[in-house]
Amino acid sequence: ADAIISLRDVSQTYRVKKRGSFAGTSALRAVRNVTFDIVKGDSFAVVGESGCGKSTLMRLLSRLERPSGGSVLCEGRDIAGLSGAELLGFRRKLQLVLQDPFNSLPPRTGIGAMLEAPLRTHGWRDPRKIREKVRAVMDDVGLPVSLYDDLPLGLSAGQRQRVNVARAMVLDPEILLMDETLSALDQTEQFKLLALFDKLQRAHGLTYIYISHDLAMVRKACNRIAVMYLGEVVELADNDRLFFDPGHPYTRALLSAMPSLEARRYRPEDCLMEGEPPSPIDLPIGCAFRSRCPQAFGPCLDRPPLLSVRGARDLASCHLVPGPGATLAGAA
Ligand code: SF4
Ligand code: MG
Repeated sequence: ADAIISLRDVSQTYRVKKRGSFAGTSALRAVRNVTFDIVKGDSFAVVGESGCGKSTLMRLLSRLERPSGGSVLCEGRDIAGLSGAELLGFRRKLQLVLQDPFNSLPPRTGIGAMLEAPLRTHGWRDPRKIREKVRAVMDDVGLPVSLYDDLPLGLSAGQRQRVNVARAMVLDPEILLMDETLSALDQTEQFKLLALFDKLQRAHGLTYIYISHDLAMVRKACNRIAVMYLGEVVELADNDRLFFDPGHPYTRALLSAMPSLEARRYRPEDCLMEGEPPSPIDLPIGCAFRSRCPQAFGPCLDRPPLLSVRGARDLASCHLVPGPGATLAGAA
């Protein structure tokens, strides 16, 4: 399959001031050795608790940051090296849709003007063509064109989120990167937005990347899912496998917290997860999940598990998962 985005051994380390010290820094390893492909037409999700590195990954994918190690490729080209017209081209191709429909829109700018702005940035000059394009996009995302000159003040949360989507769509992107895009919406609005995303995807051949903590939404919207824990991808799987046959104890713990049928497939005692993840400044030796894992055993203490292959193309990194890279010696 042709990857539109590929991550190759991507890491991001920040220098942070040492606690209780005026001099000296520690390394905060926010993202560690992440490798995956996003195929054109995918609805790809990156899930995990807050602090797992998914926000950093979002910034790396959109080139708001460059990685400290490894590379992010778009159609085979390392995006770290892009500048000038090529960078502008990448920014058009991959558009960000942010979370908060109440704070992300400038309050004193009309809806139409808001959607015209990115076109001007990208070199559009003809006012008539600009207006035409904006009207077409408003129509495409289900915003009445009569809202063209309105301020965002009177809009519902769902309409505001549609404005955000329109702002991204106006540049005819190929990839939409959704950072908790639906989190602030109620169930009904979420459902409507997901139906819209589905329609837009089919009409424009879009690829979606969802950064989310909401597994119920991901179950509905995404075909492929990367689960992150402490900066690493611990499981990478297609939707059905992830929800019905997860390989990693952390994935099972996340699923057991879902208020749905899937959750009842797992015995709570197998999914218990207590406390907070350790600090990404003081990473544990061995498996990063061991301090919270109900199934931790000998090898987990001193050997980090490798990603093991499950089925045709899924991966999980746990000593209990057999397969290339797995180490079952010592398992009871
Ligand atoms: Fe749990 Fe060990 Fe697997 Fe880590 S390697 S998830 S500690 S069983
Ligand atoms: Mg975060």
